[in-house]
Amino acid sequence: MRVRSYSFDRYVELVRDFHGYAAPGVLVGGYMVDLAYRHLHKAGLYNALCETRKCLPDAIQLLTACTTGNGWLTIHDTGRFAVTFYEKRSRQGIRVSIDTSKLDFWPEIKTWFLKLKPKAQQEEGRLRAEISAAGSSICVTRYVKVADRFIIAKDHGPVVVCPCCNETYPSSVHGLCPDCRGESGFVRLPESELESNRKTTDQTYQMASRNLNRR
Ligand SMILES: [Zn+2]
Repeated sequence: MRVRSYSFDRYVELVRDFHGYAAPGVLVGGYMVDLAYRHLHKAGLYNALCETRKCLPDAIQLLTACTTGNGWLTIHDTGRFAVTFYEKRSRQGIRVSIDTSKLDFWPEIKTWFLKLKPKAQQEEGRLRAEISAAGSSICVTRYVKVADRFIIAKDHGPVVVCPCCNETYPSSVHGLCPDCRGESGFVRLPESELESNRKTTDQTYQMASRNLNRR
């Protein structure tokens, strides 16, 4: 079964290059995207609303023009493994998710999707074979209209320079930039720590490559 214009094996290679490894979620996600696009008008312009941060966004970014970078892919993380492709103006489109009632036919997919066993005990080869054979038959589609609150303006408007750190941020946020207001997601470390970190990383790589050469 093909994944958009690719054979399944070719798609597995693409996933490996892009995602780092052939994760089942990106493979299943490929069939979900494929199914959605079989329902959508070829000439349409679609945005994507993905309900999980895990794996599925990479299938969307590999197979469509929707990326987080260009703003056509929005992630609203409800933890559900589902994606909606919707027409920009009408906001109407197709939502694709996994139909758990169909998973009894595919024991490895069921084990993986419902997390019935720890990852180490799952059969990777059999799981991949099932994903390839099942294709989009385990998916379910719904016609939906995306709610207003998910339509995010691409342009954040004018920017100002923060008087504290000299970086720019949207002028709609008043006062200091979010970082200088204490809403940062990181803490600043002294430069000396960066150097010692680099040395530790170098040593780790050297040890790993020595061990590899010994084999
Ligand atoms: Zn600042």
